[in-house]
Amino acid sequence: MTLPQPREALGLREGYHSAQVDVSVRLNTNESPLPPPPGWLEAVSEELREIPFNRYPDRSATALREAIARFHGVRASQVFCANGSNEVIQSLCLAYGGVGRSVGVFEPTYALHSHIAHLTGTAVAEGQRLDDFSLDLDQVRDLLQAASPALTFLCSPNNPTGMAENLSTVEAVIEAAPGLVIVDEAYGQFADWSALTLVDDSRPLVVIRTFSKTWSMAAARLGYLVGPEEVVQVLERVALPYHLDAFKQAAGRVALRFASEMEERVGLIVRERRRVVAALEGLGVTTWPSQSNFVLFRTPRGDGAEIWKGLVDRSVLVRDTSSWRGLAGCLRVTIGTPAENDAFLNALKETLDER
Ligand code: PMP
Repeated sequence: MTLPQPREALGLREGYHSAQVDVSVRLNTNESPLPPPPGWLEAVSEELREIPFNRYPDRSATALREAIARFHGVRASQVFCANGSNEVIQSLCLAYGGVGRSVGVFEPTYALHSHIAHLTGTAVAEGQRLDDFSLDLDQVRDLLQAASPALTFLCSPNNPTGMAENLSTVEAVIEAAPGLVIVDEAYGQFADWSALTLVDDSRPLVVIRTFSKTWSMAAARLGYLVGPEEVVQVLERVALPYHLDAFKQAAGRVALRFASEMEERVGLIVRERRRVVAALEGLGVTTWPSQSNFVLFRTPRGDGAEIWKGLVDRSVLVRDTSSWRGLAGCLRVTIGTPAENDAFLNALKETLDER
C-alpha cells in the first residue's frame, strides 16, 4: 500500500532547519547568549502558581497585549501576539495570501518569508537586492507593479545580511506597495531606528517583533506585530482558539518589567559585535555593516562550506549561508558572550592559517 501524497504546494520542499551539531559554542541561530534575568524567572514562577491550569487561557491575551501596547505607546487593539514571530508571518499569509495571491520578497532575506508563503499556497514574487545588499527602489517599484503582491516583506535589520533599511526606503516601499507592507524587526532593538514610529491605523504597515532574541526567551515562543486595528481584527479570525497558552502570556508580560536589563544586554552585544567585526577585519575577512546581533562575513581563503567545517572541527557552529543565492562564500555568525566570541575568532584564525 502507498501512503497519500501531501498537497502540491508542499512539493519536495524541505523544512527550514539550521544544522544542529553537537559543539560547545553555538553561534548559528541568533539567540541571546545569556539566560533571562534571575528576577524574571522568580516572577514567572510566582505567576505560574496562580494559573488555573484546568481552564483555557485568556483567548484575547488581554493583559499581555496591554503590556506590549504600553511598552510601545500604542493601543492593545493594535497588537497581535502569536507563538513566535514565525506564527505571526503564517497568520498574515493565511489571512492575506493564499491561492491566486502573492507576496513580494527581496533576496537575500529571511528564508521563512517565502517558505511560509509557499506553505500557505501563496505565490512568491522574488526581487533581488543589489550586490551591496541594499534595495534599488526602481526595481522594487517595478516588481510591486508587475506582481501586485498582497503582502510585501522587508526585514530590518535584514537576516542574513544584518543591514537595516532606512526610513526613506521603508516610506517609499509603503508608498509603492499595493497591499500590506510587513517590516520584520526580529532584531529591531539593535537598530538605530524602528518602523514602529510609522504605525498608524490608516497606513498599510505592520511591524513584527519577537521575544526570542533580545528578551532571551527563544524557548517560550512568543512574537507579535503592531499594526492597524483592522489588520489585528483580521488576524484574530485566522488564529486558532486559545493559541497562546497561559504560561506564555505571563512570561511575556513579566519580561517587559525587565526592559532595562534587556537594554543592557543589547549594549553588551553591540560592543562585542564591534570587537568581533574589528577582529575579523584584522584577519582580512570581509564583513557587512550589521545593526543586529549577528555578522555576515566572507573569508579571503577557502569556500564557505570548508570554513564552516573547519569551525565545526574546532567545536564552533556558525550558519553556512554560502549556498544561498547571492551569498557565495558567506557565513553568518551570531554574537555570543565575550568567551564564545574569542573561541570563534581563534577557531577562524586557525582554520584560515591552515589554508
Ligand atoms: N524573523 C526573523 C528575521 C528571524 O531571523 C527570526 C528567527 N530566526 C524570526 C523572524 C522568527 O523568530 P521567532 O519565531 O523565534 O519569533
